[in-house]
Amino acid sequence: MKKCEECGAELGEWQPGTSKRFCTDCIRKHKRDAARRRVAAMRTIREMEKLVKPVKTIAEIQHEAQAAGMSYGQYVASLRR
Ligand SMILES: [Zn+2]
Repeated sequence: MKKCEECGAELGEWQPGTSKRFCTDCIRKHKRDAARRRVAAMRTIREMEKLVKPVKTIAEIQHEAQAAGMSYGQYVASLRR
């Protein structure tokens, strides 16, 4: 009798020629883990994108420069100080 590679439970009506290596419970668990890993990976990607994204766009800086009565170059120079 073939047994589950993970928990050792007997696989019961295992069909020869199929690649069944885990019991139904473990297969279900694996699927759930894979789904959770996918969700975690998506979350990581979103956080990375947030980090990579510039804090301000050039248009926003230009707008702030105008509001401060400065040219873009002056304003950026004043920010660097
Ligand atoms: Zn199992």
